[in-house]
Amino acid sequence: MKVAVFSARSYEIRHFEQLEANYPVELVFFDTQLNLHTAKLATGCKAVCAFVNDDLSAPVIEELVLLGVSTIAMRCAGFNNVDLDQAKACDVSIVRVPAYSPEAVAEHAVALMMTLNRRIHKAYQRTRDANFALEGLVGFNMHGKVVGVVGTGKIGIATLRILKGFGCQLLAYDPYENQHAIDLGAEYTSLDDIFSRADVITLHCPLTADNRHLLDDQAFSKMKDKVMVINTSRGPLVDAVAAIQALKNGKIGALGLDVYEEEEHLFFGDHSNEVIEDDVFRRLSACHNVIFTGHQAFLTEEALSNIAQTTLENLAAISNNRDSGNEVR
Ligand code: NAD
Repeated sequence: MKVAVFSARSYEIRHFEQLEANYPVELVFFDTQLNLHTAKLATGCKAVCAFVNDDLSAPVIEELVLLGVSTIAMRCAGFNNVDLDQAKACDVSIVRVPAYSPEAVAEHAVALMMTLNRRIHKAYQRTRDANFALEGLVGFNMHGKVVGVVGTGKIGIATLRILKGFGCQLLAYDPYENQHAIDLGAEYTSLDDIFSRADVITLHCPLTADNRHLLDDQAFSKMKDKVMVINTSRGPLVDAVAAIQALKNGKIGALGLDVYEEEEHLFFGDHSNEVIEDDVFRRLSACHNVIFTGHQAFLTEEALSNIAQTTLENLAAISNNRDSGNEVR
């Protein structure tokens, strides 16, 4: 099976190439994003392999089908960028990698928390300039702080496990309670209760049709002053314009973002020689208490290896008319 791999980067190609010979696939890598203009690169391929910011809207799927593509292999867990109705109508199979390393994302969320809390980003710059003054670097003990975890699936649970080690008081919100969270000492409660009690709020739920701008003006207004907010899930969960206002009025004390509403025009590429036109991004990234990472929470060797292996197994299963268990229905 010939597969066009879009948005492919060297750090992941390496892992795919190590395993490719063991599977009935021929991979063709493109560093460009999949969209209506680039879909033609998949000519002659039975499958495309796509990532979080590839465009798999209805017109793109239609175009891929005309080219002979019958499988979309997502090399990530989320599939909010795939038009599922169109895929179903065109009889296109979708497979994904539901879990590759929840710990990778959880550890990154906690890295953002600790960097913001202990001002590591500021200390790094100061000490390189031989400035060892401590003014403005005061953090807080994580021990005893109230942390609200929104979404207690695989990544939420891995995050709770780390936070329990810190001695945090754990609150959780999820439409479905998870016994692992309760065993870790988390108290399930409402979102509003988390907003009013948490010192730190970290998002670990998927983006769905119902939770776009889960954190908006109203949500921020219910939070404690100087709350820390971490988003490693999906950008549109946080209303970025409302976040700027909440930073300005001191509601948000620290904001850690691995994902961003308009990231598809920015992330995964080098724009260091360009003028960034996204004013919202520029205003956010200019704040001393905001840290962006470019959708890298998943980026560990272990996760990349698992992603490559599961994706190749998914494609092999499709090619052999087997169920991989990772189909999106
Ligand atoms: P999962 O399916 O194991 O768990 C998601 C949990 O969220 C489930 O328990 C579900 O019931 C809950 N949920 C659904 N809607 C909710 C809502 N409105 N409010 C609260 N909880 C809700 O998924 P996971 O593996 O833990 O991944 C979570 C998310 O993390 C993914 O959907 C993806 O968006 C994101 N992610 C980001 C990266 C990254 O590199 N930044 C990598 C992987 C996953």
